[in-house]
Amino acid sequence: MHELSIARSIVREVEAALQDRPDVQVTVVRLRIGRLSGIVAPALEFGLSFVTEATRLDGARIEITEEPVAVWCSPCQATRTTDGPSVLCPVCDTPSADIRAGRGMQIVNIDLSEPTGVPRDLLEVADVS
Ligand SMILES: [Zn+2]
Repeated sequence: MHELSIARSIVREVEAALQDRPDVQVTVVRLRIGRLSGIVAPALEFGLSFVTEATRLDGARIEITEEPVAVWCSPCQATRTTDGPSVLCPVCDTPSADIRAGRGMQIVNIDLSEPTGVPRDLLEVADVS
């Protein structure tokens, strides 16, 4: 299952980004999936529900947005955004091999929980200074 290995790499990347922040949990992960990437969003979410277990992404909400396909159209001399997983220019119907967007998957950003391990009172006192 393709999506399971992608889910694992998402967890690895997020954990690596947080290695200096041992006091936080991930609450939301926002992903952008290109329509030409071949990644099936429900399968990816399903995969993430397994591989996030016992990681700091455990229980995080997964928000997925689709990235439309954009191609460079030579006859039009313009970048065109196509409808769905098509590489045809929507204006002149010319197929394009020059794909500018919609092939990949990105971690857009993540939301973190409040730091844990420090009593709340202590945090508020520290803010008064
Ligand atoms: Zn065109």
